[in-house]
Amino acid sequence: MVFESLSEKLQSALGKLKGKGKLSEKDVDLAMREVRLALLEADVNFKVVKDFIKNVKERAIGSEVMESLTPGQYVIKIVNEELTKLMGESQAKLTFASSPPTVILMSGLQGAGKTTTAGKLALHLKKQNKRPLLVACDVYRPAAIKQLEVVGERVEVPVFSMGDKLSPVDIAKASIEHGKKHGNDVIIIDTAGRLHIDEDLMNEIVNIHDAVNPKEVLLVLDAMTGQDAVNVADTFNQRLGITGVILTKLDGDARGGAALSLRAVTNKPIKFVGMGEKLDDLEPFYPDRMASRILGMGDVLSLIEKAQSSIDEKKALELEKKIRSAQFTFDDFLEQLEQMKNLGPLDQFLGMIPGVNAKALKGLDVNDKDLARLEAIIKSMTKKERENPDIIDSSRRKRIANGSGTNVQDVNKLLKQFKETKKMMRKFTDMEKTMKKKGKFG
Ligand code: GDP
Repeated sequence: MVFESLSEKLQSALGKLKGKGKLSEKDVDLAMREVRLALLEADVNFKVVKDFIKNVKERAIGSEVMESLTPGQYVIKIVNEELTKLMGESQAKLTFASSPPTVILMSGLQGAGKTTTAGKLALHLKKQNKRPLLVACDVYRPAAIKQLEVVGERVEVPVFSMGDKLSPVDIAKASIEHGKKHGNDVIIIDTAGRLHIDEDLMNEIVNIHDAVNPKEVLLVLDAMTGQDAVNVADTFNQRLGITGVILTKLDGDARGGAALSLRAVTNKPIKFVGMGEKLDDLEPFYPDRMASRILGMGDVLSLIEKAQSSIDEKKALELEKKIRSAQFTFDDFLEQLEQMKNLGPLDQFLGMIPGVNAKALKGLDVNDKDLARLEAIIKSMTKKERENPDIIDSSRRKRIANGSGTNVQDVNKLLKQFKETKKMMRKFTDMEKTMKKKGKFG
């Protein structure tokens, strides 16, 4: 999970303030000392941490506490706001040229995920009814051209390449002519990676830049590299004038330092984050949602958006009604599991819901094989059992296991997961209701 360790530490530090009716300066100091350590351990830039703590302290100690909040809650609110500010306040969108095509130059170190991300971006744009063209400008590694072609095929986006004999500058220029002729309105240029900052390659990308005058210069950075990523960003920004960053591998156990320091150090926004190896694992970056996620308030909006795009809305409404009236049955559960397959890794999805312990639900990950087994078990239940699992005693469990070719442990596990899911869904609708009441939602 993204920022797991930072998130836990911040929540623990701030949790100590939560219940307090009154806060002394010492309380705030102590909590801030822990927050400071948590941020440093997450590999956030030293100076960024210093400023952050200073800002929070000043605001926390200097101002009148709002009536509706306890002092502890108020500090959490400030930390949330400052974290959001640190990451850039609002979502930074791609800008498009007023007369197409829009040229996007992809840059970054080798292995950061540049080629994969070029493909993800192409798919993202295609879903917005754009007609992207991918361009292979890495002429140094023949495998790189092939890799982009494979990616292009998978997202069904055309790839422009001229082999490895021409200069990248000529290929880039030719690609724009090609794109214009073929009605491509966005041209994504994949450039040669480098293992570290390399003067020749740096000059080359600057030359490509000058030749094609891109609207967007996106730097792809590996979140796992922490502070290094921030240094790379600083250099690329000075040489190339980047317009934004795509931070990859946030699905791994990145400590978070890069995401939290980039903006402050380079003054350039994170526009997207890579959340996995699959080509649809690219998400727009929302600083406010990320801050809430770090502080464990749950990324409610992301969750809803994700759920809405994957789950048929009418079915979702029906389901909601059932959950509200506590009629959620095993038949619904099965349907739910099938839909959840489309949502990607389940623990990632569940981690966005406040109060859900994603770790505890890890076993709930659904793949096709699991699904077939779960389906067999559910289908071996009688109609009555499916509607009212409470009646499934041990002899019924044995019968179901036999009938589905599984064993009693499997049946037990499923019954437990069903219960958890039901609980989680109820929690989710409750939360939704509260948010609606507060006018923050829908
Ligand atoms: P390039 O050298 O910068 O073009 O990097 P590639 O696109 O070849 O990616 C390097 C490796 O990182 C590949 O194994 C990708 O599958 C992987 N990768 C890229 N983006 C992500 C991401 O967001 N999450 C994860 N887990 N892996 C990623």
